[in-house]
Amino acid sequence: MESLRVVLMLVFVAAACGPAPDSNNNNGETPMPDASGGGGGGGDAGTDSGGGTTGTAPGGTCSCDADCADDGGNQGVCIYGVCMTKATGACASAGSQGECPTGSRCWTLDGSSVGPLCWPDCSAHTCSGTCDSDGSCAPAAQGNCDVTCGSACSCTMDAQCGNGMQCVQGDCVPDMMTGGGPGPGPGPTCTGLPVRDCTGTGCGTLVTFSPRTNAAWDDYPLNGETASNQYRSYLRKDLMMLVSYATSVVACKAQGWTSGIGGALGLGDMSEANGAIPGASIGSPGHPPGTHTNGFDIDLAYYQAGTANNRLRAICPYTSNGQDQSHCVGAPTTLDVWRHALFLGTIFESPRTRVVGVDGKAGPMLIAAIDQLCDDGWLSATACNNIALAYETTNMGNGWYYHHHHHSHISLKPASFLSNGFCLGDCANTGKALPGRDLRVHRVRAQ
Ligand SMILES: [Zn+2]
Repeated sequence: MESLRVVLMLVFVAAACGPAPDSNNNNGETPMPDASGGGGGGGDAGTDSGGGTTGTAPGGTCSCDADCADDGGNQGVCIYGVCMTKATGACASAGSQGECPTGSRCWTLDGSSVGPLCWPDCSAHTCSGTCDSDGSCAPAAQGNCDVTCGSACSCTMDAQCGNGMQCVQGDCVPDMMTGGGPGPGPGPTCTGLPVRDCTGTGCGTLVTFSPRTNAAWDDYPLNGETASNQYRSYLRKDLMMLVSYATSVVACKAQGWTSGIGGALGLGDMSEANGAIPGASIGSPGHPPGTHTNGFDIDLAYYQAGTANNRLRAICPYTSNGQDQSHCVGAPTTLDVWRHALFLGTIFESPRTRVVGVDGKAGPMLIAAIDQLCDDGWLSATACNNIALAYETTNMGNGWYYHHHHHSHISLKPASFLSNGFCLGDCANTGKALPGRDLRVHRVRAQ
């Protein structure tokens, strides 16, 4: 239990990613996560670590799960300093009652693996936190608890995270970097970069990359496309501009880095010209409903080391016993973690970035590398406070576990979409975000 078992915390994410890059069968998708499956799926739901009948009542303050009383058959649990209880099962709907004792209702917690929770009603309990718009007692913006004994708390120092882990922006993540970073930034001054943000009209128009290929990006034909018919390569103008910008930043800033091969980043599936899921026009949609529609999503290769180019290909071993596991089963040995971290960090500059999904073995390395690039001045504070990186180190049914060993997936928010929700398309959202907190998708902690 004390080993590097890491659980990724996600909200509902319907977005699974694309087909195997060298296959045309388009069947390499993860099925849609079962909407009844709960947003987090806490790994320790069967352990009664709460305070039994003698602890603090729901809504009261806590440091550890053990501080919090059970409520009937629901186990007490400490959530950022507020006692709640665990639901008896997945929330049937947002705020459902059936899984919770009277006076509490069921939601998951966005960005956490704790699983479905019974949020105390302010009308029924004394609330030590803040009452949210649902009338639930939620943790206050600065509320916290002890990450070593509470189910959902922010770490504040590496020592709290255990051996082999480090505290990055409140989350315990594996400390697996082995040096080799680029050193102090911010690196070269880059002029003539593509404009990052689309303003005015036409930002939602579906376009293609122009030119298709240059020193920064490489929109080559794949998944059955031909050079004269790249029918899977249409995306919103604002997303095209953001990716053009971020790949150009990497081409400029990282020109002297020795961590990988450098060069342009390969681009994968986007949408079809009419906004349909790639493959829909040939009767074989390559992605689940609710993702890769209307140009909000793009699959991109990883920046690589030791390969011929940065096109979509696996960055790690992904077979065991001769079977394709469709995810990394070993370290991503051909990932240029530094360039990809600079790329994703630059994508996170944009407030329009909803979420980026990567393989579960690449995610912790990228988080650590992004953190290092933040510390070293390569990435802006804006980017460093907007990291929405999703990955699953175990399959929690959120769509990221499979099929991201050869590409990462960027999803944009609609322009009018102000919340940081992570549900897109045909998925039920039973999650609450914490008031006044940055929502990060990647919350990880030692179990
Ligand atoms: Zn995708």
